[in-house]
Amino acid sequence: MNYHVIRSSRKTLALVVKPDGTVLVRSPRRVSGEEIGAFVAKHLDWIEKKQQELAQRQRQRAAVTPLTAQELEALAQEAMKDLDERVRRFAEILQVSYGRVTIRNQKTKWGSCSSKGNLNFNCLLMLAPAFVRDYVVVHELCHRKEMNHSPRFWAEVEAVLPNYQVARKWLRDNGETLMSRSPR
Ligand SMILES: [Zn+2]
Repeated sequence: MNYHVIRSSRKTLALVVKPDGTVLVRSPRRVSGEEIGAFVAKHLDWIEKKQQELAQRQRQRAAVTPLTAQELEALAQEAMKDLDERVRRFAEILQVSYGRVTIRNQKTKWGSCSSKGNLNFNCLLMLAPAFVRDYVVVHELCHRKEMNHSPRFWAEVEAVLPNYQVARKWLRDNGETLMSRSPR
């Protein structure tokens, strides 16, 4: 097993599998090469699992067909209606106001909320299940109460969507593949 070692003033050993699959060990200065080798050996299963996950994700990404510009446009139209409706419904439940709702095809974000309360959503959300759309809408609307991701913010989200963790997990597992459907 090949790995790079970066020594620094940190206190503990840590393993990182980088996006290209290479293994990096972050180590305190005084730990010997032998100890690092033993540490890596002890975590071989974990490293292999990570590398397999990465490879699978890369295969998935390569397998998805990007949307055409027309398909994207159609999604944006759908999103305008669908998300606007969800925003209205949840804003009432949360008792918050908001400004404009815009739909864009961003490459990295599912939604955002400006300090003025303008909401922005990614039209690719239309390819996600409805409970995920609910979560993204509620997440952004909760920023009308808490402009951060503090425990208070998450409590607001949970009060409306007790199962919001399932949607977060869905986005963690599938978000990247979905984003990669952006026209190339
Ligand atoms: Zn947020």
